[in-house]
Amino acid sequence: MFLVFYVKITIGEYVYMIDLHTHSIFSDGTDTPEAIALKANIVGLKAVALTDHDTVDGLSSFMSMQMSVDTILIPGIELNCQFMGGTLHIVGLFIDFLDTRLISRTRYIQLKRLERNKLVIERLRAKGVSINWDNVVTEAPVGLVSRVHIAKALVNLGAAISCDDAFDRFIGDGSPCFVPLIELTPREVVQWIREAGGVAVVAHPGRGFYKGFIWDSAMLELKSIGVQGLEAYYSGYGPLEQRYFLQLAAGLDLVPCGGSDYHGYNKPHIAIGVGRGSLYIPDGVLSLLQKIRSQS
Ligand code: AMP
Ligand code: MN
Ligand code: MN
Ligand code: MN
Repeated sequence: MFLVFYVKITIGEYVYMIDLHTHSIFSDGTDTPEAIALKANIVGLKAVALTDHDTVDGLSSFMSMQMSVDTILIPGIELNCQFMGGTLHIVGLFIDFLDTRLISRTRYIQLKRLERNKLVIERLRAKGVSINWDNVVTEAPVGLVSRVHIAKALVNLGAAISCDDAFDRFIGDGSPCFVPLIELTPREVVQWIREAGGVAVVAHPGRGFYKGFIWDSAMLELKSIGVQGLEAYYSGYGPLEQRYFLQLAAGLDLVPCGGSDYHGYNKPHIAIGVGRGSLYIPDGVLSLLQKIRSQS
């Protein structure tokens, strides 16, 4: 997959790649923030954003790498909310990660996440699985605890044969031990991101909603509450999906952002910058983001 990138550079296309969506050990990835900065630099990315779920705790380490790498490092976050019967993910880019209001808001979400996780453990125990909180925390020694860590604990305890199996039989959405996270509204999430100086971008539209969901009208509504971009490039998209979301962004004057959603070994088929191998996000997106920031 790196070969694809190498060929593109050496034949002289002066377009550089960027990646605006990655996760570290501070949420459900397996790389440190420093390693993400270094890997992006080695791959030759023009820019990379760290967008951990529900936390800004990895961002000071990440941004401190700026003096050691050529890649532009962008501080970000990914927050969930409920929208039209599905779970919508919104990425905030260029957030001020020292903003005290944002920090206390993330602490509140983390507290609710902790309560949710403990309920999941209770439900697993009620189903006869011998699991306790320590089993789970061991899997997440640095950052917050997510279902990925619960899945790993279930595998280690022999209650599941793989993380996929753990999600399928126990903790995936709609499974017997599933407990939802705090249900924020898109308006709250967009407001929190923008009040911290960030650009609010709908993450991977097309995922997390029923088949046939009409994104045109949904995105129009999201734009009216302050969304400024959408991920038109994403690891899981085929060419038709990418073209649809690029056209949707152009039609609504939203920034066509994108990212790999890199999670390290927790999603081993997804590599930084190139996703499943063919992801290619042009650096022209950066100037569009800068323009929208200057208008905010
Ligand atoms: P949480 O934020 O605790 O609800 O955990 C959700 C995270 O679990 C997502 O961000 C994904 O990274 C991961 N995830 C969701 N479904 C699966 C699955 N079927 N297999 C592996 N990881 C998953
Ligand atoms: Mn994740
Ligand atoms: Mn997401
Ligand atoms: Mn993500």
